Amino acid sequence: MVDIREEKGDEADGRAVVLFSGGQDSTTCLAWALARFAHVETVAVDYRQRHRIELDCRKQVLAELHHLSDRWPGRLGTHHLIDLAALSDISETALTRAQEIAIGASGLPTTFVPGRNILFLALAGAVAWRSGARHIVGGMCETDYSGYPDCRDDTIKAMQLVLNLGMDARFVIHTPLMWIDKAATWRLAADLGGEALVALIREHTHTCYLGDREHHHDWGWGCGACPACRLRAHGWDRYQASRSV
Ligand code: ZN
Repeated sequence: MVDIREEKGDEADGRAVVLFSGGQDSTTCLAWALARFAHVETVAVDYRQRHRIELDCRKQVLAELHHLSDRWPGRLGTHHLIDLAALSDISETALTRAQEIAIGASGLPTTFVPGRNILFLALAGAVAWRSGARHIVGGMCETDYSGYPDCRDDTIKAMQLVLNLGMDARFVIHTPLMWIDKAATWRLAADLGGEALVALIREHTHTCYLGDREHHHDWGWGCGACPACRLRAHGWDRYQASRSV
């Protein structure tokens, strides 16, 4: 059994809802939550993303994540898959249409889906409200990212305020990856679940915007050329380099 870092304290009996898509970041966040909270539910959203294959990948991740710590299986609760096709209907982006991935006229990448994380957090808040969970966990990051404004820390803090005002709640939104780069995200996975979690992320998570599951690399499956693949690959290279020093 790997040496799993377990957090104890005030949150040991807490309930959490994790935004879990089946990608590297959200899988790391799910492990982070399992190490801290007694009851963890997950929320995935089908918004007809071009890389919907991530939703299939998430099933395998959920099935295997159980085995990485003796304490984790009893902590995983309901997995919610929410249909949000309307987001694709109203979005003209490279993640929801066959468009080129480039920098758009707005100065943002064409992969930016306006409102996506705002809607996701609202949905997670609704699930958390119903299940009595205080904690909401998301993989948003503004350290090593694509410049999406809804990944910024200020946006998340504002959403926490909105959810608490709008639902008369005391939610805390956690973003464990906000201030770390992709190399540190790999390292965090190793800290939480050892090499077994790193191997699971490499083999079973999906990050590639194009949904490529044909090309395999050291860092996992993907086209190797889209911005998501490049970030993941670059982080993996730096993580490997840091381990060999
Ligand atoms: Zn790719």
